[in-house]
Amino acid sequence: MTVLGSANLDITATVPRLPGPGETLLGTSLTHSPGGKGANQALAASRAGATVRFIGAVGQDAAAAQALELLEADGVDLEHLLRVETEPTGTALIAVDEAGENNIIVIPGANAALDADAVRAQADQIRGLLVLQGEVPASGLAAAVAVAPGRVVLNLAPVIEVPREVFLAADPLVVNEHEGALALTQLGGQPQGLGEAEVVAALRAKGVPSVVMTLGAQGALVSGAPEQDLPATDLQATDLPDDAGSVRVPRVKVAAVDATGAGDAFVGALAARLAAGEGLVAAATYAARFAADTVTRPGAQASYPAAGAPLG
Ligand code: ATP
Repeated sequence: MTVLGSANLDITATVPRLPGPGETLLGTSLTHSPGGKGANQALAASRAGATVRFIGAVGQDAAAAQALELLEADGVDLEHLLRVETEPTGTALIAVDEAGENNIIVIPGANAALDADAVRAQADQIRGLLVLQGEVPASGLAAAVAVAPGRVVLNLAPVIEVPREVFLAADPLVVNEHEGALALTQLGGQPQGLGEAEVVAALRAKGVPSVVMTLGAQGALVSGAPEQDLPATDLQATDLPDDAGSVRVPRVKVAAVDATGAGDAFVGALAARLAAGEGLVAAATYAARFAADTVTRPGAQASYPAAGAPLG
């Protein structure tokens, strides 16, 4: 499978409190860690057992090696990565205070190079199931959907304006509750006053082939064509109205430490299981267990379980 998306270096400073405008204060620690939704999802998919090619763009700088460190160690195929001369590797500058509040500045840098032309130039390198997110230019997403050789998993996070064709190719569209409402608005729908399951149903009614809505500690909602689902006997009873057509995958109870990167862990694990031929509900059920496991450890990529490790 192929993940096309962002790779960043996250530079995190811990501070006693967040600085105000014009203020300088002393921080207490500094960490560099690999991030970016594309890279996170590529690593999660690899840890969930998939053979993964990552197509992204980094700068020709020292940050690139740090941003790709774990992908490289995991054997993710980085051969078709763009190395941009004129831009820095995408960087997130994060300040976290003692209460866990944060300020984040994201510099897309080289990630912005993944536009339509760059994606078309890589078209032959996209193999198998394709995973996309919202941290690359919309023109790149549209071009990727147009040349995708197979199934497309679209995690529209953050929500950016994309052509309707991108939504119509998303099988599934993976969004959280907030993103789901924004996606529905973009498709001309009215999310106001709708519950989660109703937003999912409305997205389907607008032509999205299947939808997975992540719900934090509450697990996820899945809605797709019946043939994608498990036999009815394997499904958990759902408390949702029948006409919404969603299945709620079981919530997984864990002692939560840090949910950073949990959404990406979910998408990567989901995609890995879909690429292996599993149905949507079964794949989402596994993804919920995989993502819950990552919440028990700090960090994003650093929290992802080793390949084959039992999930807590
Ligand atoms: P982000 O993009 O910040 O990682 P998100 O809003 O896209 O977050 P969430 O819905 O918070 O993603 O989490 C994704 C998935 O991770 C959930 O669907 C769930 O399976 C799992 N998860 C997150 N938080 C918890 C938790 N506290 N306990 C169990 N599972 C969790």
